[in-house]
Amino acid sequence: MAPRRLTIALAGNPNAGKTSVFNHLTGTRQKVGNWPGVTVEKKEGHIRRGDREITVVDLPGTYSLTPFSLEEVIARNYLLDERPDVVIAVIDATNLERSLYLATQIRELDCKVLFALNMADMARARGLIIDGRKLAQLLDVPVVFTVANRGEGMEALLEEAIRLAESETPPDRSRRVKYSRDLEEAIGRLAGFLAARLGDRLAWLPRWTAVKLLEDDEIVKQRLVAAAPDEARAVLQAAAALRRHLAERYDEDPQIVLTDERYGFIAGIVREVQRSDARRRVDVSRNIDLVLTHRFLGFPIFLFFIWAMFELTFTLGEAPVGWIEAAVEAAARAAQAVLPEGPLRGLVADGIIAGVGSVLKFLPNILILFFCIALFEDTGYMARTAFLMDRIMHLIGLHGKSFIPMLMGFGCNVPAVMAARTLESPRDRILTILITPFMSCSAKLPVYVVLAGAFFGERAGSVIFGLYLLGILLSILTGRLLRSTLLAGGDAPFVMELPPYRMPMAKSLLIHMWDRSRVFLRKMGGTILLGSVIVWALSSFPQVPATAPGGAPDAGVEAWSGAPGTEGSRALQVRESYLGRLGRAVAPVFAPLGIEWREAVALLSGFVAKEIVVSTLGVLHAVGEEGEGGDTLGRALSSSGMTPLAALSMMVFVLLYLPCLATTTAIRRETGSTRWMLFSIAYNTAVAWIVSFAVYQGGRALGYA
Ligand code: GDP
Ligand code: MG
Repeated sequence: MAPRRLTIALAGNPNAGKTSVFNHLTGTRQKVGNWPGVTVEKKEGHIRRGDREITVVDLPGTYSLTPFSLEEVIARNYLLDERPDVVIAVIDATNLERSLYLATQIRELDCKVLFALNMADMARARGLIIDGRKLAQLLDVPVVFTVANRGEGMEALLEEAIRLAESETPPDRSRRVKYSRDLEEAIGRLAGFLAARLGDRLAWLPRWTAVKLLEDDEIVKQRLVAAAPDEARAVLQAAAALRRHLAERYDEDPQIVLTDERYGFIAGIVREVQRSDARRRVDVSRNIDLVLTHRFLGFPIFLFFIWAMFELTFTLGEAPVGWIEAAVEAAARAAQAVLPEGPLRGLVADGIIAGVGSVLKFLPNILILFFCIALFEDTGYMARTAFLMDRIMHLIGLHGKSFIPMLMGFGCNVPAVMAARTLESPRDRILTILITPFMSCSAKLPVYVVLAGAFFGERAGSVIFGLYLLGILLSILTGRLLRSTLLAGGDAPFVMELPPYRMPMAKSLLIHMWDRSRVFLRKMGGTILLGSVIVWALSSFPQVPATAPGGAPDAGVEAWSGAPGTEGSRALQVRESYLGRLGRAVAPVFAPLGIEWREAVALLSGFVAKEIVVSTLGVLHAVGEEGEGGDTLGRALSSSGMTPLAALSMMVFVLLYLPCLATTTAIRRETGSTRWMLFSIAYNTAVAWIVSFAVYQGGRALGYA
């Protein structure tokens, strides 16, 4: 017998626990991709139950099904077009009212809905008592209590979902939102008209379609026109007439009236089903917030957390970084020993192992950094940072909310740019996207660690911290500049929501951390591997005969690369290669910054991914050939004649110059414009050049080497 196929969709507010439910239901059998045509993440998983093949889909988190945001459109289109067999509305039991706003809208679609009253533990802790049976009766939906992060109630939820999917009885249509008389009358009339005019060609229920038309829903209108162009005209005219009639009757846009009434209906339900036990109600979150978002204490505490994050990233990462380094060196030595002399040995030892290894060793740092960011997110502290930074962000005419993408930018700019989606105003969004790349992402970290470690010794930590601050400063300055020129305008008012603090669950933290670090590892096997090989190849050809005279014919090169007599044949080879020629061609641009040709080439390659700056340096300085212990790249750099001031200038340049390929692509996608992407590339690079110039020349004027 063929397996029965069922599809279960998970819908709910952001942070209601959908992904936790999803992870518990599907275990490891997940597939992560994107929704067609957009970059909102789509998670799909599979379960086998007896002869059933069940697909579970994690929908984007939304607060409603009105098509205001991309997430809402995706979630709604999925429910309407794909018609999953069951929708599990994941409800945050501690915020019943807000959750029900979405859940009742799903209920209105007349698909089979099941409520998962999640965060049941939190609700209990706050003394909220919810009468699940009554809720089920009032809306005619099954209700299951769950604690998704601990996997409680998952079995019951799945069983109930299967039972509902396979039951023959349709949901009771009388248990839907009831609007006031005039509205109901208009809905009834329009629904009747729709059914009569379109009949089978109407893709959705007449009542739902009628409500949407009264809300003047663009997408529904367009679809109607596409389905039946002739009839749609008459229907739209009727809808417009009814909207005018209602607007007059209520002295308000019908959409607002419908929303108000929905809220009214929900408030009624909440009053029926929820009691709060006043004595047990200890609002922990409020108390924590008294300290963490305190007018004066809040900010220093925040700085402390950020400092602690970087401190942890480096101190905790130190040992494992050393292990990986040792392993990479061992691998390079093994390759030297096993492979015969020739291009293959060069490719493996100098290209692949030196290149990938020089970046791979930062995996522990990056894991820890992402872990800390996940911790901020999962505890609810991230939302507070928006609150704390609100005043500072107002300096650039932005809201505190814009700070969240910026903070995420410390991890990786790609999700950070995407996180700007939560901002409603397009101008705010573009501005936030443009200033985010100044937040120093984790890929730049290896560059700082190598350079600061080699040239600043004890003070490396402070130098790196200073770089991060410089990035923040420049993003603020850029914000001010753009706010008063290209993106002039005020910030849109909004209410910042402070979700309750939550005890983070190890599993969810690890998943969040892993989700992001995976990208790093994938880059390692893809872009960085490829980049290292290309850099190696360009630096190995055309081949210079080993017997070539020690001095290079081009006198200009000698000036940049130190004493030629001390160089090995590999160094000579690199200098005469294609890459060396490219380096010489661009060197004049970088010379005023104290950046020499090898470093210039590394910077160019960094456009692909910032980690490649280090791997390119690794290849160009032929680290791995000698196979000595310790930080070979750092030593190679200082013996190549680089000074601390030049190293600082290079770090500043890396901090500020154009965003990497993945980020620029994200910028184009999210701003919807190639112009903004080009602007970001040109602007950041110009800023980088100017600031590095100031640092290098200023430093020299002050007498530093
Ligand atoms: P999503 O945005 O709807 O996908 O929500 P997530 O599944 O990512 O959950 C958001 C946060 O709430 C995570 O930190 C979860 O560990 C936590 N969480 C999820 N379900 C529960 C629950 O039932 N109780 C508690 N205390 N925390 C939960
Ligand atoms: Mg999620």
